[in-house]
Amino acid sequence: MKNLKTIIAHDNKDKYGGAVTAPIFQSSLFTFDSYEGISEAFDDPYMNPIYSRGNNPTVRILEEKVAAAAGAENCKFFSSGMAAITSAILHYVSSGDHIVAISNTYGPANNFLNLYLKKKFKVDVTFVKGDKIEDFKEAMRDNTKLFYLESPSSALFNIQDLRAVADLAKANNINTIIDNSWATFIYQKPLELGIDMEVHSASKYLSGHSDVVAGCILGRDEDIRAIYGAEFPYFGGVLSPFDAWLVLRGFRTLPLRLEQHSKSAMEVARYLETHPKIKKVNYVGLESFEGHEMAKKQMSGFAGLMSFDIDTDVAGVKKFMNALEIFSIGVSWGGYESLAFAPIISLLKETPEEVIKEMGVSPGVVRISVGLEGVEDLIHDIDKALELV
Ligand SMILES: *Cc1c(COP(=O)(O)O)cnc(C)c1O
Repeated sequence: MKNLKTIIAHDNKDKYGGAVTAPIFQSSLFTFDSYEGISEAFDDPYMNPIYSRGNNPTVRILEEKVAAAAGAENCKFFSSGMAAITSAILHYVSSGDHIVAISNTYGPANNFLNLYLKKKFKVDVTFVKGDKIEDFKEAMRDNTKLFYLESPSSALFNIQDLRAVADLAKANNINTIIDNSWATFIYQKPLELGIDMEVHSASKYLSGHSDVVAGCILGRDEDIRAIYGAEFPYFGGVLSPFDAWLVLRGFRTLPLRLEQHSKSAMEVARYLETHPKIKKVNYVGLESFEGHEMAKKQMSGFAGLMSFDIDTDVAGVKKFMNALEIFSIGVSWGGYESLAFAPIISLLKETPEEVIKEMGVSPGVVRISVGLEGVEDLIHDIDKALELV
């Protein structure tokens, strides 16, 4: 059984009395009929359900399926993407170590590295753009233990050359983590390129229905088991059995959803590219996109996330957003529904408009997540809203 769609859609029905979907083991603990029974379970507390902060059968069904689909030795699920990210980073570094991270990582991950680890744990972090291998070579030090990557980055879609970064890291005994939430292992396989660990927010494409917050780590069995024995139970970011079931439910259609997201996003991007009020379209799938050539080498599809720069000011963006009827206004992405968000909204909370102008940040940038609605309707929605700008 090699086809990825088959691995993802097929379940082992024999195990659970013929039930076609996985049962939800809504139980905090598991009992044994003898001293010997529980004693044996403790021989491998990772595989044997004893207590649900350690292992729960519904969560384990999900982990095994996702690991198989990603071609990873093992997988650990967490209650959020951030729980997975912080656990993965802490697995690889101790105080006194140094990290090289790309500068446009997901905001909270960036804050964790830059504010929390640096200040509280004396882990030094150098941020680099990361689109050239020289960025990593120049930033590297004797005490560098980790390269933290996100490609494409979810804010500006920066691309890193994953094989080159992995090779450089290996030659210098440095570990590598990539946030692969955006492309997913359907479109990009970092582990095959030599990256040590993938982290995911499963709240986005993996679950795809905007009804659950979850995250996971994929990697070598040895690393996952170490995290299982330390960061996972200590910080306790445990996924509930019901939420694991929701992720599993959404995950079955991941390849199909991504096909549709990609197809519609390309049509929306091509439409935007020709619109006179749009200064720039940032979609990894477009030939005009800066990182497109590099992306094409290591990705087989481009999913549904993009941004574009409307030739306007804050007032214009406000009109545009308020005129949207099919796109909902909101953060996050990767669900069935189309979403729009303007980064200026959060930026303005901390920075006055004049200063933003001086910084050269364009107020007209809108990020959209292209959902599964009819693409004609999505383009019409944007077109109608742009008329008001
Ligand atoms: C949302 C997101 C995360 C964090 O995931 P949560 O499940 O919200 O904790 C991490 N990385 C990227 C790229 C994201 O978009």
